[in-house]
Amino acid sequence: MTELVGGPSLPQERKLVTSIPGPKSQEMMARKNAAVAAGVGVALPVSIVAAGGGVMVDADGNSLIDLGSGIAVTGVGNSAPAVVEAVVNQVQQFTHTCFTVTPYDGYVKVAEKLNELIPGDHEKRSALFNSGAEAVENAIKIARHFTKKNGVVVFDHAYHGRTNLTMGMTAKNIPYKDGFGPFAPEVYRVPTSYPFRDGLSGAEAAKVALTQIEKQVGAGNLAAIIIEPIQGEGGFIAPAEGFLPALQAWATENNVVFILDEVQTGFARTGDLFAANHEGVVPDMVTTAKGIAGGLPLSAVTGRADIMDSAHAGGLGGTYAGSPIACAAALATIDTYEKENLTERAREIGAIIDEFFGELAKNDDRIGEIRGRGAMKAVEFVVSGSKEPNAAVTGAIAKQAGEQGVILLTCGTYGNVVRFLPPLSISDELLREGLQVVADALAAN
Ligand SMILES: *Cc1c(COP(=O)(O)O)cnc(C)c1O
Repeated sequence: MTELVGGPSLPQERKLVTSIPGPKSQEMMARKNAAVAAGVGVALPVSIVAAGGGVMVDADGNSLIDLGSGIAVTGVGNSAPAVVEAVVNQVQQFTHTCFTVTPYDGYVKVAEKLNELIPGDHEKRSALFNSGAEAVENAIKIARHFTKKNGVVVFDHAYHGRTNLTMGMTAKNIPYKDGFGPFAPEVYRVPTSYPFRDGLSGAEAAKVALTQIEKQVGAGNLAAIIIEPIQGEGGFIAPAEGFLPALQAWATENNVVFILDEVQTGFARTGDLFAANHEGVVPDMVTTAKGIAGGLPLSAVTGRADIMDSAHAGGLGGTYAGSPIACAAALATIDTYEKENLTERAREIGAIIDEFFGELAKNDDRIGEIRGRGAMKAVEFVVSGSKEPNAAVTGAIAKQAGEQGVILLTCGTYGNVVRFLPPLSISDELLREGLQVVADALAAN
């Protein structure tokens, strides 16, 4: 078992040889409970030993279908060969210098690549960090420095991370915020566009949000508006058409930096390299992370050169920020998205999920809405004959799917959304088998 090698050559099958969790996983979980802080919870209590393509293999020899990609991270697949090769080459040369002490080429190459790929023809600059939350924090630092203003507008259902500032920017209390305050000041929350629940057009929803911003914050106090182009943890909520362009137009008129948090939507996930491209918006700044480096920790802020260059030298950085190993992985990962045409693959995956649940919805009115784009799809479950969130059936589906060998994530402010984030390296057959397990769980609950 210790010799098992991950990557796409692993047998692409769902295979259960024990119940889930098996004895070895249970043994590890007992040690986990004794050694790891209880606040670090797990969705599925298995001990993973290898992963690749569309599967994860556990210590008991079970092969599970991966519909989560470690939360939208391994878009190119786990242990993707090009990523493994780039990482091995890099660690053999050097593992660390700290870019702000003695720089290296990989970091600059990632910045050049991001400046080329992030939406907009304007001149750009990038800065690299380790996590999504760290990228969001730095985007806010830079926007405040540039505008010489303090206020930050965030939205209902938003998720921006677990550090103090980003917890305050995140909407949902349990599990992210409860008891962890006080939170940073000058963060203002306004309504988002949630077509399934608010019934508003993009223009109408933008009017509600912008009126609230003008009345309760004032453009003169506002440094930035930050929004996920499709809200991730909040429930894969795609705003009505026109919502984001209206926010952007207002921000531009009022010297407010318009930031898109593409940490979850970025890098081919939505069927385009970035979700901004679907929405017809050109953000001033974009934060990226998750899908950027094939599983290595890396994040970035990319934005207009005048905004990004406004912070003084030495004002941005971090010991590990833009690690050479993560940069090598990112260059190989981005190359893989392009070479393997994974934006197209994301759209194919989305079409399969849409068709599958479209059929099921004909006979099951607990399926309230099927939404999202590309391989970032979700099903919102409601109580039959209403729009009341159905968290009970959602939890039951995820639990049963796990027991049947399918890694499935939930999300949503009301805990009633099942989200599909398969690696783009999954086969059609495995994806369909995973969806059928979910359908069977729905039927049984
Ligand atoms: C996951 C996520 C973050 C936080 O990223 P971490 O790497 O977990 O800090 C921020 N914004 C969005 C939209 C995310 O999905």
